[in-house]
Amino acid sequence: MEATTITKQGAATAPYYLPQSDECSVFAAAHQNGLPVLLKGPTGCGKTRFVAHMAEKLGRKLYTVACHDDLAAADLIGRYLLKGGETVWVDGPLTRAVREGAICYLDEVVEARKDVTVVLHPLTDDRRTLPIDRTGEELVATPGFMLVASYNPGYQNILKTLKPSTRQRFLSLEFDFPAPELEVDIVTQESKLDRETVKSLVRLAGKLRALKGQDLEEGVSTRLVVYAATLIAQGMSVQRAVQTAMIEPLTDDDDVKRGLQDLVVVVF
Ligand code: ADP
Repeated sequence: MEATTITKQGAATAPYYLPQSDECSVFAAAHQNGLPVLLKGPTGCGKTRFVAHMAEKLGRKLYTVACHDDLAAADLIGRYLLKGGETVWVDGPLTRAVREGAICYLDEVVEARKDVTVVLHPLTDDRRTLPIDRTGEELVATPGFMLVASYNPGYQNILKTLKPSTRQRFLSLEFDFPAPELEVDIVTQESKLDRETVKSLVRLAGKLRALKGQDLEEGVSTRLVVYAATLIAQGMSVQRAVQTAMIEPLTDDDDVKRGLQDLVVVVF
């Protein structure tokens, strides 16, 4: 089964999101014109938060699907299920979004099985249709429907990149870790930790990211910096919080870990 989260329209206020550039206006223009958007960027840099924020601002319900290598088209479209002795059709999250004029966000879309991209094609051109073979329906997307997908170009192997025929159907927005002064604002806001300590954590994050491609496969995410800051704000020592949130998640190699700890000493 797919992991789907549904965010209801009209909840209190939009989740906090600090823009890195003009991504909010580009997304709004794409939505207004019914164009699909691909968000590219490393894990934990704010893509999911951005979509949640925009869905709320645009007054659209959001269906988020965390894609994985077992996710098939039927998980998105729907299937017949046995209910009280009867077989009934149950819409999947993509079908619901198409019917309701909602936003459907496919997180890490390259992880999904190949048949998923086939389903997306007629939805991502001017037909904006979703054929449902099982029921014989061909749904035309309700105005307001928008398809958003994300992927991390960094760590996929060659077999797991998006085919040009798929990626050329989406507008693309590139995301990266926020610039230091923005990241300090984000982490302070999310964790409520004092700004000076946050500044040091962000400085450390910058040093760790500089090691990407040498000792580390991926740089530390903003998500992990927020985790470290949250632990410190709740009373954990800086050393312990950084170890758990910003070093252990990055590597299993003891030598590399020792090298990273040396960086911590330099920064704090
Ligand atoms: P992704 O979807 O890119 O993996 P998320 O959207 O889940 O990453 O971001 C991880 C966390 O980082 C969020 O929960 C939030 O705390 C923080 N974050 C990152 N960028 C921003 C931003 N621009 N504004 C607000 N919070 C952010």
